[in-house]
Amino acid sequence: MSAPTVVAVAPGSAAQRAGVAVGDVVRAINGTVPRDVIEWRFAADDAEVSLDLVRGGLELTIDVEKRAGEPLGAEVSSAVFDRVRTCDNHCEFCFIYQLPKGLRKSLYLKDDDYRLSFLYGNFTTLTRFTEADLERVVTERLSPLNVSIHATDPDVRSRMLKNPRGGMSLRWLRALLDHGITIRGQIVLCPGVNDGDVFERTMAGVLDEYPELESVAVVPLGLSRFNAEASMRLHSVAEARAMVHAIHEWQEVFLRVLGKRMVFAADEYYLMAGLPFPEPEAYEGFHMHEDGIGMARTFEAEFFGQAEAPTGVQSGFFAWVDGAPAEGYRAPRNPAGDTGLRGTSAAEATPVQLTPRRQAPIGILTGEYGARILAPLVATLGRDDIRVIPVRNEFFGGNTSVTGLMVGEDIARTLAAEPAGHRYLLPDVCLSEGRFLDGTTVDTLPHPVEVVATDGIALRRALGAPILEPVA
Ligand code: SF4
Repeated sequence: MSAPTVVAVAPGSAAQRAGVAVGDVVRAINGTVPRDVIEWRFAADDAEVSLDLVRGGLELTIDVEKRAGEPLGAEVSSAVFDRVRTCDNHCEFCFIYQLPKGLRKSLYLKDDDYRLSFLYGNFTTLTRFTEADLERVVTERLSPLNVSIHATDPDVRSRMLKNPRGGMSLRWLRALLDHGITIRGQIVLCPGVNDGDVFERTMAGVLDEYPELESVAVVPLGLSRFNAEASMRLHSVAEARAMVHAIHEWQEVFLRVLGKRMVFAADEYYLMAGLPFPEPEAYEGFHMHEDGIGMARTFEAEFFGQAEAPTGVQSGFFAWVDGAPAEGYRAPRNPAGDTGLRGTSAAEATPVQLTPRRQAPIGILTGEYGARILAPLVATLGRDDIRVIPVRNEFFGGNTSVTGLMVGEDIARTLAAEPAGHRYLLPDVCLSEGRFLDGTTVDTLPHPVEVVATDGIALRRALGAPILEPVA
């Protein structure tokens, strides 16, 4: 158990008025030791909040009085104060097993914790879920949750998770749905393992057993050059096409029976298959945007002024594969601010650049997949002073072509071949707390870069292109 520490106190807040200070260690709130930030938030919502604190080695109690519902105004250090529940599966496709040695420790943490699913959208397999967890989720309405399904056939799921409990643990999915918890499902598709007939049976299983699911995202397995599992391999183009077609056919079935498409293919499938992305309406609200479903379409809408604000959280570096670490990619991407443009809408976006904008040719750094999406958008501006620079991912290798997985080493190599004096824009999705996945920072790059929020509105502003009014 690690006690929560106050890391921020909002000016003018109830916590500040009562004398709570940054660095205070919270031993109890309203007499209870909180297990996680969910319990902290529930207690902090009370009108009267009693905090047992340790400050500079001394114990003290602060009673905060505020209006019911008024925010306490004190942020604490982490999401989980007892231990993050780690995963007891050993999936062959797990990206954490495919990481090189020597990266940040937090990247190697395999979590399978429903609380992180509720708080951050991490996926849980439910293999460690218990009756007590169900009671808490239902009582506290911890909804929505994200669940890794992979296959509904118990034997296939057990084999994929390399865990005998993998077969039976979907009973918790049924129980959660019975209690009205919103669940988003994910299938990591491994060619030769859960595609083809297995996928067909999984879709039939979803329709038959779990029709209340909000949606199911189908994402290709992520494979790095450090993969040691011989049975894990990349999709062929034909396999990617077959998957897109199978998903579209099932969408028709779900639409007819349930009135919604239910299952969606990750953007990567369309890029791998060389097929056009579906129309925006076909995504039915982009529920799984953070899982890489419909990102190209939302970026396009933002870029062309068809969206008032960026769509949700732009995908972190592992969001497209199962095995997302508990912390790291959810952390602030670029706390220093750098030259990023941030804001919730085109109108509100506030330039926070620390270096003056220069009149110079512009290079947009992005992953190889990102380049295929950005190039046609940028071309519509008709400017020959802007170019898209794809960064080949040699650090991870394999099929790691998404922008979120770009690392400093690869960006530095790419930039070294580019001329000095140009402006180079870097999407913030590849940073976590100012660091790339390989631990380097933007300071080590051979040319200065401007870090820009990863959305179409911010990119358009950074390019100095006219801001288009959102279409009503
Ligand atoms: S992919 Fe997810 S469930 Fe499987 S071993 Fe990795 S962290 Fe655990």
